[in-house]
Amino acid sequence: MTTSTTTRDQALVAALRTTPIDVIDPTDARYDEARRVWNGLIDRRPAVIARCRDTADVVAAVAAARAHRPAVSIRGGGHQVAGSAVCDDGLVIDLSEMTGVTVDAADRTAQGGPGARWADVNRETQRHGLVVPGGEVSETGVAGLTLGGGMGALQRAYGLSCDSLRSVEIVTADGVVRTASATEHPDLFWAVRGGGRGIGVVTTMEFELRPLDPQVATALVLYPSAEAAAVLDAWRRLVPHLPETVSPEYALWSVPPDPTIPAEMHGAPVVVAGGLHAGPAEEGLEVLAPLARLGTPLMDATAVTDYAASQAALDPLFPAGGRYFFKSHFLDEMDDDAAAALVATGNDRPTPGCIVVVRTLGAAVARVGEDESAFAHRGARFNVSIDAGWTDPTLDTAAIGWARGAWDALTPFATGGLYVNFAGLDEDADRVSAFGSHTARLDAIQRAYDPDGILTSAAARP
Ligand SMILES: Cc1cc2nc3c(=O)[nH]c(=O)nc-3n(C[C@H](O)[C@H](O)[C@H](O)COP(=O)(O)OP(=O)(O)OC[C@H]3O[C@@H](n4cnc5c(N)ncnc54)[C@H](O)[C@@H]3O)c2cc1C
Repeated sequence: MTTSTTTRDQALVAALRTTPIDVIDPTDARYDEARRVWNGLIDRRPAVIARCRDTADVVAAVAAARAHRPAVSIRGGGHQVAGSAVCDDGLVIDLSEMTGVTVDAADRTAQGGPGARWADVNRETQRHGLVVPGGEVSETGVAGLTLGGGMGALQRAYGLSCDSLRSVEIVTADGVVRTASATEHPDLFWAVRGGGRGIGVVTTMEFELRPLDPQVATALVLYPSAEAAAVLDAWRRLVPHLPETVSPEYALWSVPPDPTIPAEMHGAPVVVAGGLHAGPAEEGLEVLAPLARLGTPLMDATAVTDYAASQAALDPLFPAGGRYFFKSHFLDEMDDDAAAALVATGNDRPTPGCIVVVRTLGAAVARVGEDESAFAHRGARFNVSIDAGWTDPTLDTAAIGWARGAWDALTPFATGGLYVNFAGLDEDADRVSAFGSHTARLDAIQRAYDPDGILTSAAARP
């Protein structure tokens, strides 16, 4: 750290201390905990963490950033695998305590703070038989997931998470608090739906709510890995015939140490076919039944279950502090060659925590016009995420190398599009792959609202 940086950091910290913000610098006993994010691979040391409690705090933090020009990162739930919620040597605008969620059931809307997790949203909305289509792990942050698009088990029924946004409150680099919606600052509203990083600090998200009974049918069927190719073949033939209430998934994994699964199965390489029916539970059991007829199941856990609980079921399998690296591809089609390449990625997974997941898009995702929001991958039929997970640091090279190799093997079959939410380490800097033909429009909006790059500098930082 240079002397001038130190002097600047001291001035930044001093300025923040004149505000009501909870300021955490390296001398604070809470510093190491506060700089930690979900991915244990990330070890960054910001100059200061500004833990905000409300919009006024965020305005004050942005004013300090404008005055002192540090690198800036914005922290919602802290789950981005690239660790972009924290920066080295700069200012973290930490929203993790702004977790409040309120529901207006009559208006079918919910307001969520930028530190809310999907568990917070589900808890409030499900009391009314309503839902925001979210991610598949309830611990992940709503803000980062939604601002990058937001894929999940309800996507074909109700669209991406960002498609349910009605408006956001956003603090832009000039310190102005704006509401962005279809009618107010529509350019900002376009940008935050899929391209929402580096545009400003989102302080409230207003979502339109969709109906979903708390009791839903979910499918989770395990097949032996020896049947991976045959099951994928049958899955590809089945998918076009499933209604859009289902967003079917196919995964190559090892049986996790889940107490609901017999211990003798733990660690065995398997194929997983899964999905959830966004409709009446009993009807859902019938709709999902074909997912258990793709081969010879080792286990069929298809059942009527609590939606919020089903969303939390994967949480313990992706614990904070583990080491993770994700990459993904979008595919327009999955022909025989692509399917063979996909199955091959499962053969050399270096740890049981490495998983390849195929998610199905289309339906409600594809009905939103390609240019209606910044999300640039609406035409794709599948997303394949390659998620390396491990705990032993000596496996870093092997695990990251496996994910990169698997991604390379699938590249000939992919659209070339990049999903920012699944981009590990420096991969999320590739804006053209992330935003395609929307890149120039998104860049122009960033320049208009942050001409000096006060907040955008963080967006480019891995
Ligand atoms: C276990 C796990 C499961 C996942 N499952 C899914 C899934 O099912 N579907 C899916 O689509 N994605 C999924 N993801 C990816 C997820 O969408 C991203 O990790 C997302 O960034 C998480 O949001 P966050 O608020 O926790 O992120 P953070 O790490 O806090 O933030 C990520 C970035 O988003 C921006 N940001 C965050 N909050 C704000 C804000 N309020 N204003 C402006 N910018 C902000 C910042 O640029 C920040 O660097 C998963 C990730 C994990 C780790």
